[in-house]
Amino acid sequence: MRLVPSKTPWLFKKLFPNYIWELSPNNKNDKVLYLTFDDGPTPDITEWTLNLLKKYKAKATFFCIGNNVEKHPEIFNAIIKEGHSIGNHTNTHVEGWRTKTEDYLEDFKKAEIIIEKAYNKFSEALKKHELVSNSKTQHSEIVNTQPSFTNLFRPPFGQLKNSQGKALIKLGYKMIMWSVISFDWEQYISPEKCLNNVIKNTNSGSIIVFHDSVKASVNMEYTLPKVLDYYSKKGFRFEAITASNFN
Ligand SMILES: [Zn+2]
Repeated sequence: MRLVPSKTPWLFKKLFPNYIWELSPNNKNDKVLYLTFDDGPTPDITEWTLNLLKKYKAKATFFCIGNNVEKHPEIFNAIIKEGHSIGNHTNTHVEGWRTKTEDYLEDFKKAEIIIEKAYNKFSEALKKHELVSNSKTQHSEIVNTQPSFTNLFRPPFGQLKNSQGKALIKLGYKMIMWSVISFDWEQYISPEKCLNNVIKNTNSGSIIVFHDSVKASVNMEYTLPKVLDYYSKKGFRFEAITASNFN
């Protein structure tokens, strides 16, 4: 049985007011959605996602697992290159409720170090590339529209003890929860149902959860193009979550 509904109930938001459940657009008539992708980078699936987002000029936020960044640095670079945001999703996809806060923070820290290192390496390469392309006035192959590393955290399984959340907020992280879960990873959910979960529950400012993981790929590959198409036609923009959302 599924315990978590597709749309986050107001009670959750009330119980954890320090966590981010949705974002309010600056202008109340603004139509903005925040797509998020957890658990990558994953070969093929993350790249497929990036290509699709590009087609719709959509920016998103990728909550990466440190271990996966270490395994697939080139895919991690591709995410940054496209101007998306990056968040921390722990190093080994830890279950918060079953893990001592100390151990949880240690796993988080490992991911932070890996992500920062990979990000800095890319930034250095980008700077050098810019120097080269400026001097030769060549067409720049690397396209990084926005700096993308922000202090965002999403707890795996949505599980977080109070003490863990408090410690991470103290470290300057924003706890990014969600307003809409597609349940793309659930094997008993059909692609049509997955799409319906999103369409039924999304409003401007919604933070929507997808997964660029093997498990979720069947449902995600069906649902994501339709969501992008549907909301683009309705005049929505898709933005990455950045520090400017919290000013
Ligand atoms: Zn996850």
